Amino acid sequence: MTSLLPHQKAKALKPGSRRPAKELCSECGLCDTYYVHYVKEACAFIHQQIGELEQETHGRSRNLDNSDDVYFGVHQEMMAARKTEPIEGAQWTGIVSSIAIEMLNRGLVEGVVCVQNTKEDRFQPMPVIARTPEEILAARVNKPTLSPNLSVLEQIEQSGMKRLLVIGVGCQIQALRAVEKQLGLEKLYVLGTPCVDNVTRAGLQKFLDTTSRSPDTVVYYEFMQDFRVHFKHEDGSTETVPFFGLKTNQLKDVFAPSCMSCFDYVNSLADLVVGYMGAPFGWQWIVVRNQTGKEMLDLVSDQIERQPVMSKGDRRQAVQNSIPAYDKGVTLPMWAAKLMGVVIEKIGPQGLEYARFSIDSHFTRNYLYVKRNHPEKLEDHVPSYAKKIVSQYKLPE
Ligand code: FAD
Ligand code: SF4
Repeated sequence: MTSLLPHQKAKALKPGSRRPAKELCSECGLCDTYYVHYVKEACAFIHQQIGELEQETHGRSRNLDNSDDVYFGVHQEMMAARKTEPIEGAQWTGIVSSIAIEMLNRGLVEGVVCVQNTKEDRFQPMPVIARTPEEILAARVNKPTLSPNLSVLEQIEQSGMKRLLVIGVGCQIQALRAVEKQLGLEKLYVLGTPCVDNVTRAGLQKFLDTTSRSPDTVVYYEFMQDFRVHFKHEDGSTETVPFFGLKTNQLKDVFAPSCMSCFDYVNSLADLVVGYMGAPFGWQWIVVRNQTGKEMLDLVSDQIERQPVMSKGDRRQAVQNSIPAYDKGVTLPMWAAKLMGVVIEKIGPQGLEYARFSIDSHFTRNYLYVKRNHPEKLEDHVPSYAKKIVSQYKLPE
């Protein structure tokens, strides 16, 4: 009889019980498995170790003298891309789902960790290990809610699977990398998306109720590069709301405390990251972090068109102005918000500069949040690249 590994003797925490990271828990799913054994070292909100894990995963950590490294993490290459035939119903053009399907079809992996939704609720996340292209397609489109993707990890070890792709956001991937060696895999591939401002299911309802004209029919939304939130409704219609018109005073508490204290917007530890914010409108933004990521992207090279990344404008004044406005919960009247949206879209930051705008705005906000709510964590929890980004701005007390 083979003896149990130390973690196999541990017991998953009960659903709904208080998590070790307390209110900062992002429900990444690790504690729903016996890998809870490693939580003190692995949890992104208890033990921030992005630099060390970058070194292990990519062979080096960020070079703090290189601005692109500071902002976007370790990378070999960045580009804008889109599928020539987009996947219907995907969040953007479906590059993530397409790579996962190719990896499965070509036998590179035996399963794909991704997140579908429950039958009853299109926004209630349901993590799965997909073993067919249909199951991957059923996971397309964002579930804009905290999702316990790692809750399926126990099933992986038990199934004897040796080659796996995990799709996930930064906090899930940090914990995954920390326990990677314990999973008994021959090869782990990680396909990440950026992530910011996530919410609990109840928080999502509040956001939809305060922002959309028809909250019950929303099937998809995204904060886009034109400084508007785009909602897509069941009947195919699109509704746009300018960022500057959001009811900040009501929405201040909507984002999960984990996301208010996160500094891994760009998913530093994935092999390949697919987002949108560094690309022109309608295109996706690709960050190839290492050789494994390049191999993954190459699998879909005949399905995508590419263009180089570009950068235009200067974000800094807009970020500096937004800091006290957000802090005081200022909401502009809708006519002014629309006007401001139009002006900023014309003259505001574009391409990589838009991505920097979004990173700066969120890191300054989150730095203030941690400083005010968890001052004892500030020094260790905020990575050095984030401290460098925040230090460019004047923050209120
Ligand atoms: P699709 O082919 O539609 O596949 C989407 C994949 O995402 C699926 O495989 C699914 O398993 C996975 N997924 C869905 N919801 C979750 C979840 N809650 N947790 C983990 N995995 C999930 N990009 C930016 O550039 N800037 C942002 O600010 C930004 N914010 C985001 C916030 C959230 C909560 C999420 C989930 C993603 C965010 N992204 C952001 C990424 C972006 O919206 C797209 O997901 C990405 O470009 C992939 O698009 P696609 O069409 O290729 O994906
Ligand atoms: Fe556990 Fe993940 Fe929550 Fe940390 S974030 S306490 S690892 S479930």
